[in-house]
Amino acid sequence: MVLGIESSCDETGAGLVQDGKLLGHSVASSMDEHARFGGVVPEIAARAHVHAAAPVVHAALADAGLTMSDIDAVAVTTGPGLSGALQVGVAAAKGFAYSLGVPLYGVHHLAGHVAADTLEHGPLPNPCMVLIVSGGHTSLLLVRDLARDPIVHLGDTLDDAAGECFDKVARVFGLPYPGGPAVDRAAREGNPRAVAFPRPLTGPRDDRYAFSFSGLKTAAARWAEQHRAAGLPLPVADGAASLQEAIADVLTRKAVAACKEHGVGTLVVVGGVAANSRVRALAEERCAKAGITLRVPPLRLCTDNGAMIAAVGDLLVRAGAEPAPLDVSIDPSAPLEYAALHPVARK
Ligand code: ATP
Ligand code: MG
Ligand code: FE
Repeated sequence: MVLGIESSCDETGAGLVQDGKLLGHSVASSMDEHARFGGVVPEIAARAHVHAAAPVVHAALADAGLTMSDIDAVAVTTGPGLSGALQVGVAAAKGFAYSLGVPLYGVHHLAGHVAADTLEHGPLPNPCMVLIVSGGHTSLLLVRDLARDPIVHLGDTLDDAAGECFDKVARVFGLPYPGGPAVDRAAREGNPRAVAFPRPLTGPRDDRYAFSFSGLKTAAARWAEQHRAAGLPLPVADGAASLQEAIADVLTRKAVAACKEHGVGTLVVVGGVAANSRVRALAEERCAKAGITLRVPPLRLCTDNGAMIAAVGDLLVRAGAEPAPLDVSIDPSAPLEYAALHPVARK
């Protein structure tokens, strides 16, 4: 059984996975401590990880009805993320691996988001198209064997991530932190066609797989500003629904097009923004129309957690990957080239 530890941002997560099955997990979040600052404060996050690291591992074990001696390997997020936050998780993982005498594996945080889906829907087909939409990333990836193959980036965001756009516009609209879920809730009462927000990079001459959300963010801010300047109340629900519609439209349109152009039959949507109700519904609608199988992890596995890191660790163990050395270091800006620090060599 693999213990996975995640601490790249404000969630401390521990998960236990064996042979692709989730046995137990636990997540602690310092989100409330950051709320009054309107964003994650790295120092506060790192300190919260120090307090939560051991307790979440014990909680995950209790959740699974297992003990320390059942742990055969430890996997940990080595990047990307906040450096102080990553340091704490990696130090904890080294401590568990060393004291238990089991191997340690270094995992890329985004590969964890991808693997999260396997815990609910089984092994990923090879190849599959992955849309990662989170607080810090928005990318279209062609994924083959996570334990062995390089990950092909078809496109990334040129500026803000989709989650960042949700979070920042939420702030301008006066919605609570974290913004993504707040926009999702507010949008339920709104009209998605009330405001014609732009659909960035969807023109015929635009890069088909690149994303851009800073212009959309500015358009939403300007819309709010115009209401304030005119002394009009802000129709927040309509703004939220229209913003959410624009983001969901761009994301799903490009993802489905990428599947068609590459002849890939499965789209996997992962990361925190995959929790968005409109992104899920529109992806479902458009994939069904295009004959593409859609996979989206359950809500609790979309945002940061330890189970997704354990899922990658479990794939690595079963594929016979080399463990990481016990002096392995973090990489706060690790590019997503492979799922692991030490992937299995292709012969
Ligand atoms: P990264 O994975 O890129 O390092 P992260 O770990 O901070 O960033 P996640 O935890 O995967 O990101 O996701 C957090 C993001 O997801 C936030 O921007 C949050 O607003 C967004 N999010 C969560 N739920 C929803 C929702 N229902 N609708 C829209 N956005 C959401
Ligand atoms: Mg978070
Ligand atoms: Fe994440």
